[in-house]
Amino acid sequence: STSKYFLGIDFGTSGARVTVIDDAGSTAADHKQGYGPDGAADWAAAWERVLFELVAALPQDVVANVGAVALDGTSATAMLVDAATGRQLAPPKLYNEAQGAEAVAAAKAIAPASHTATASTSTLCKLLAWHQAGTWQAAAAAGAHPRLMHQADWLAYLLHGRPDVSDWNNALKLGFDPAAEAYPQWLSSQEYALLFPSTVVAPSAPVAAVTAAAASRTGLPRSCMVCGGTTDSIAAFVAAGVSQVGEAVTSLGSTMAVKLLSEERVDDAAYGVYSHRLGDSWLVGGASNTGGAVLRQHFSNEQLQQLSQRINLAQPLGLDYYPLVGPGERFPVNDPGMQPRLMPRPDDDALFLQGMLESMSRIEAQAYQLLAQLGASKVTSVLTAGGGAVNDKWTAMREAALGVPVRPAQQGEGGLLCVV
Ligand code: ADP
Repeated sequence: STSKYFLGIDFGTSGARVTVIDDAGSTAADHKQGYGPDGAADWAAAWERVLFELVAALPQDVVANVGAVALDGTSATAMLVDAATGRQLAPPKLYNEAQGAEAVAAAKAIAPASHTATASTSTLCKLLAWHQAGTWQAAAAAGAHPRLMHQADWLAYLLHGRPDVSDWNNALKLGFDPAAEAYPQWLSSQEYALLFPSTVVAPSAPVAAVTAAAASRTGLPRSCMVCGGTTDSIAAFVAAGVSQVGEAVTSLGSTMAVKLLSEERVDDAAYGVYSHRLGDSWLVGGASNTGGAVLRQHFSNEQLQQLSQRINLAQPLGLDYYPLVGPGERFPVNDPGMQPRLMPRPDDDALFLQGMLESMSRIEAQAYQLLAQLGASKVTSVLTAGGGAVNDKWTAMREAALGVPVRPAQQGEGGLLCVV
């Protein structure tokens, strides 16, 4: 066949998914694979195995006609790699691994106050932990060529062989400034800056063709272009179907996370709000501690479904709840000591649930209002992802509170950034 295919590979927290589309935009193949129970013993080996098994599982005539490939990985998953051999110089530090006080203090000593790179899970703190332990220095003294890579950088490296490439999105939590398209001076002046990805590209920008070795290992053509990657959450946002400024995705999982495509960049550490660059726009996000985890404390999914049917939308309760599983909120209200508010509790569980869903709808509207107040674009429509998306009553309450259309997000195709 003469058609060209595009391959997107999404490396999430528990497994990876490959999606292939043809040049007309139709899905030609789509499948998933978990990292397996042995993954944790050697993450790098598990990810490499899954990458090549996912490609090997595709029809040969599709693989032979792939024009471009892009990969995403979990944000702030850091790897210390010997650029000469691809060997891991330390076990990878995963996206959610908080680093110790010493690393955080070192990040705070150099970064501007409350910079996203000072979070205990940031890529910078992970590198600082290796730096303080002397890990890269010892490897260098032993003749290795240590480099810092994000998960997505390393997977792309397995295909294009460039150990020095990352993208704006993955490099954000290292401290890269996507507006200036450079590392700020407070960072580039550090001794360990020689480990950083020195070429940081736009997500989906062409980087390099696959190597001869990767081509023969996979069956991909030598002409296949490997493109700039991104993080899994940004890939999910794009996959949800958002492309215009003002469009947003609310993720109603255990917590409530909002992401909005904005003309202006907004960063406000007090609220945990920061922006990723996406083309010429900004993906502004924040996360509230309210969400499905509170619902789960009180009700099973089946109860949620049945009680919701009894909710009468024509009679809003207007209870001033602030549903939380424990004390503390950051966004849209910055109050580390905030106590959960779930009183008074009506006798009827359907009314109690209604009060919680109404309150979470109010908090979601407040979240988008705060983003606008901080300078982001006004929200014009909201897509819903996560477990709460199935609840029509909640959707109707949210639509009323937000004053904009609310629709379910499209499913999947997380890695397909090379075609947007
Ligand atoms: P996560 O991946 O963050 O754990 P999910 O996206 O799987 O979350 O969503 C799970 C959440 O969805 C649960 O906390 C649950 O309370 C909530 N949920 C499930 N069914 C419903 C429903 N019918 N209405 C509202 N919330 C629901």
